[in-house]
Amino acid sequence: MHVVRLIFVAAFGACIGSFLNVVIWRLPRGLSIVFPGSHCPCCGRAIRWYDNVPIFSWLLLQGRCRFCGVGISPRYLCIESFTALLLVGLYAAYYVLPLRGGMGQFEDTWPIFLAHATLLCGLLACSAIDLESYHVPLEVCWLISLVGLAAATVRPDAKWMPEVSQPVAAACLGAAVGLAISNVLMHYGFLQPSFLDADPHPRDDEDEGNDVGEHPGRAYRVAMTAACGVRPRVEMLRELLFLAPAILAAAGAYWLVTHCAAAGRAWAALFALSEGRVGVHLNGLFAAVFGYLIGGLWIWGMRIFGTVLFGREAMGLGDAHLLAAAGAAAGWKVPTMAFFLAPIFGLLWALWLLARRGQRELPYGPWLSAGVAAALIFHDRIARLLDQFGEAMNGLF
Ligand SMILES: [Zn+2]
Repeated sequence: MHVVRLIFVAAFGACIGSFLNVVIWRLPRGLSIVFPGSHCPCCGRAIRWYDNVPIFSWLLLQGRCRFCGVGISPRYLCIESFTALLLVGLYAAYYVLPLRGGMGQFEDTWPIFLAHATLLCGLLACSAIDLESYHVPLEVCWLISLVGLAAATVRPDAKWMPEVSQPVAAACLGAAVGLAISNVLMHYGFLQPSFLDADPHPRDDEDEGNDVGEHPGRAYRVAMTAACGVRPRVEMLRELLFLAPAILAAAGAYWLVTHCAAAGRAWAALFALSEGRVGVHLNGLFAAVFGYLIGGLWIWGMRIFGTVLFGREAMGLGDAHLLAAAGAAAGWKVPTMAFFLAPIFGLLWALWLLARRGQRELPYGPWLSAGVAAALIFHDRIARLLDQFGEAMNGLF
């Protein structure tokens, strides 16, 4: 049974990879991802369906357009094979090996697998776009978050998403309302986005062959912010102002549920509806919202802390969206593990670059993504290591 499913997952992964190629190429260039259909960037002719089979067509055509013979980047083959491998690896880690306990049968937990597969595929697209244009596409992060919230609501279970207590659920609701208020205020101009003049614009070059070239990296943005007279520490004040309604509403809701008996009873009654069946799904939803908030908070907190400390922009807001999405799809522990794993991956890469004397500055999104993938697959082992570490620390004091 597993073999049949693995073959299906691999084929499905290759097709998703083919779609990711379209997203990676078109999204940073502001093009529609559905229209027009696949066409050769050189001669503009539509690609026939039999030339559009993932992996095989590229190999059969030896990486060339059937009509004009122009080279098609091996990146297409790489992304398609890598996506297939990624999903096969995730399926094997969850259901065959299984590295992660409590996943049970695929028939029962497929929404969770779907959410985590969406997370990995989305992160792959985000990483590729971030590597190329130093920009994390927020649309992709929002899509991951929506799928994650839906899956956690449909299939709530503490085994793949840590549960939250009712007061914490109330705080999550408060924070969500606060963020919505901030976004409405910003939409109508009562709040101003930070770094208004220094946003990097998406690139719009034509030739597909020269993907790796000179791009405005963080150094460029830091220089731009200085040139525009933008003071990073003042910008952080704007961001704190944006976060203030969420923080106040979360604290207020938590206080209300724990200190006001009537509010506490009403909130508990909501969870007890239809003999607690509503509560189970509500808890799943709030566990995902909590994961979203914690994931975003790690990066945003670090960004504000680092920027105030060093006086130059530290970490991108796109990275906050990325880790928030991971939290919505996998609960608060995965982005927390990823936050601490990412510097290790980044450091290894930096050492390799140093050995090769590379000068190119790298974005952080890919290392966060690698951290999320590692945290997702080795979740149980990392959790066990942390438990042992905690016990050892307890023994010391
Ligand atoms: Zn062509």
